[in-house]
Amino acid sequence: MKITALEVTLFKWPVEPWSAGAMTFGGDIQLGLVTVRADSGAEGHAFLGGPSQGAGPHVGPLLDRIKPLLVGRNPLDRGAIWKAMWFQKRTVSLRAIGAVDVALWDLAGQVAGLPIHRLLGTCQTEVPAYASSAWLRDPAAYAEEAKHFHSLGWRSYKIHPHGDPQADIAICRAVREAVGEEMVLMLDSMWSYCYEESVRVGRAIEDLDFFWYEDPLPEEAIYNYVKLRQKLDIPIICTEFAPGGLYGMAQWVEQRATDMLRGDVAVCGGITPLVRIAHLADAFGMKCEIHHGGNSLNNVANLHVTMAIPNCDYYEVFPANGANKYGLVEDIEVDEHGLVYAPEGPGLGYQIDWPLVKENTIEVMR
Ligand SMILES: [Mg+2]
Repeated sequence: MKITALEVTLFKWPVEPWSAGAMTFGGDIQLGLVTVRADSGAEGHAFLGGPSQGAGPHVGPLLDRIKPLLVGRNPLDRGAIWKAMWFQKRTVSLRAIGAVDVALWDLAGQVAGLPIHRLLGTCQTEVPAYASSAWLRDPAAYAEEAKHFHSLGWRSYKIHPHGDPQADIAICRAVREAVGEEMVLMLDSMWSYCYEESVRVGRAIEDLDFFWYEDPLPEEAIYNYVKLRQKLDIPIICTEFAPGGLYGMAQWVEQRATDMLRGDVAVCGGITPLVRIAHLADAFGMKCEIHHGGNSLNNVANLHVTMAIPNCDYYEVFPANGANKYGLVEDIEVDEHGLVYAPEGPGLGYQIDWPLVKENTIEVMR
């Protein structure tokens, strides 16, 4: 079997606005449908682009530099192909590399007639979801949102706060008071604090029995993460955007800078490195909690990895209100028990909404 084609179909994606401090997105952007085709007729697909940046800027380098690496190769040589793609990371984005890797895993699943998590080796078939909050105006609004998801059966809620230590502590306190003791709460401070602030907020949310403390400091601040982790008992989780991807994780583990690793198929460059990150964590007895993937097929790919590793306990739903699910006939839904389940169709196992893609196609790039 040989790869004969790599193409990207750009189609319109109306993205609902979201904003938290410096991080904002929304408006009409382009989602990319990546197709890898083999001479046997087998195909694999992935979506390229997220709400904050559409597919457009990724496509040129992908076709210029990655396509020549693929055409003529056996699409099942995913490990060798990923390694070759990784060496192009200075000119090709990890999101683009990740999309090709996801498409190759989808193709392999189609060929085998198995879901990707079965190819990887299934560890679990259900996990609880957490609602990953919107940016809301005041503590009462966060408390309302958390109560809303609690009433739907969700077991966990993660706060994206304002990035101001005092305001953030007030938000966390209001949410804990609103939902009581049984809901699992996490705080994702999104790289907002200096060291001193990170200690103050960390101590406050320890007292509120929060489950994890995510990205309080900038992603390059390993020295201060080491100090912070020595001071706090609450588990710290970072590496969502740690420089170097898989290979950057080693120093976080070696320096004891975080309690849990983090990753997703978009930021790390695909299923192949994400599984390796999870295994690295597992060898050290650490969790690898998977971040959302920014588009619907990336989230499906993340879900497969979640089911195929022994050390991811939660599935992130962001935005929690379900906005920006797009491009699939049916998307991942959380049930009344607050759970999501392992896909059972071959490959990614979720059906692309082909009429929607066709209706909204802007350009097919080859
Ligand atoms: Mg985060």
